[in-house]
Amino acid sequence: MQIFEDDKKYIAGTYARFELDLVKGKGSLIQDSNGKEYIDLGTGIGVNLFGVADEEWRNAVTDQLSKIQHTSNLYYNEPCIKLAELLCKRTGMSKIFFSNSGAESNECAIKAARKYSAENNGADYYKIITLWNSFHGRTLTDLAATGQDHYHELFQPLTPGFLHANQDINEIEKLCSENKTAAIMIECIQGEGGVIPLDKKFADDLKKFLEAHKNILLVIDEVQTGNGRTGKLFSYEHFGFKPDIATTAKGIGGGLPIGVTMLSEKLKDVFKPGDNGSTFGGNPVVCAGACNILNRIDEKLLSEVTRKGEMLRNMLVNSKGIDDVAGIGLMLGIKPKNKKASDVVKACINDGVLCLTAKDRIRLLPAVNIPEDLLKRAGEVIIKACEA
Ligand SMILES: *Cc1c(COP(=O)(O)O)cnc(C)c1O
Repeated sequence: MQIFEDDKKYIAGTYARFELDLVKGKGSLIQDSNGKEYIDLGTGIGVNLFGVADEEWRNAVTDQLSKIQHTSNLYYNEPCIKLAELLCKRTGMSKIFFSNSGAESNECAIKAARKYSAENNGADYYKIITLWNSFHGRTLTDLAATGQDHYHELFQPLTPGFLHANQDINEIEKLCSENKTAAIMIECIQGEGGVIPLDKKFADDLKKFLEAHKNILLVIDEVQTGNGRTGKLFSYEHFGFKPDIATTAKGIGGGLPIGVTMLSEKLKDVFKPGDNGSTFGGNPVVCAGACNILNRIDEKLLSEVTRKGEMLRNMLVNSKGIDDVAGIGLMLGIKPKNKKASDVVKACINDGVLCLTAKDRIRLLPAVNIPEDLLKRAGEVIIKACEA
């Protein structure tokens, strides 16, 4: 098809795309340009939180769009302030910085951690420890934070000051005793790394360690795991963490670009005018949509996410083509017994289901309001593709 050729000709070669041209949809059903329909379990990598062309979200966005589309941060804008207030009230965080992507939200978190540590511990206390196999984004600093060497090759030198550890508290303790440390930065479920939840024992050890080392900040990257995806508003709630800084992006925009960096009481005044900024950050159209999304992530929706996640997991774990199902809520990673995850994803596309991969797993990030019958139908397609 012409557009596949034009894409190869004009788009920088960073993406290995499936030969699929998605043109429209409704909720968890999407159509390609041939009119073939798919059940969407990928949501554009966890972005279309309430599915495609969701009416409530679209109304919130278009209402704002018809008033004013952009103001810049020279002036006040209500949707941005409303969203910040909602986030603070729901999480107990104190202040928010808005940007446009997960990568920027983590950049801001790193800047906040460094500045806080420089002012409170000393300018040489800037090391940040992250976990091996983590993923924190594509900028040179977020790549440095990302604990996967293959992302680093040929992009040297990266931002200095990052160290990586296994999920082993002794290793963390040793690194912190040998290095002047500002923060420990984690995902509670490694997303790109293969849908790997934090080990409970390690999480408890880390909480104790941080309790005893109050000068070391905890930064939690909720870019993928946040906004109801795991059956809690943020996945750190499953582990009882109280982050000093938390970031999110992907799903909270409902399909429009946004990055969120949340600062706890301790760090709420770390930034002064000029310390950070973003031309589009807090864009009123995006924020009006995000307010709608956040308001709909209530207890009822969260318990439905948990219930549907359990239902799908139970379906999948009992299948003979599947080795293991990891994850929490509607963030699942399926390990096929004898097949490559990428081959299963291709077979699913043939049979009308869109899924993602993460390392050796098939990764599912469906809409949080996906109807149960669609989830079951898609589950059957995945089971068949893993067995075949
Ligand atoms: C996707 C992702 C990012 C990067 O987000 P972008 O919006 O692509 O910049 C960072 N951290 C995690 C955990 C992610 O899943």
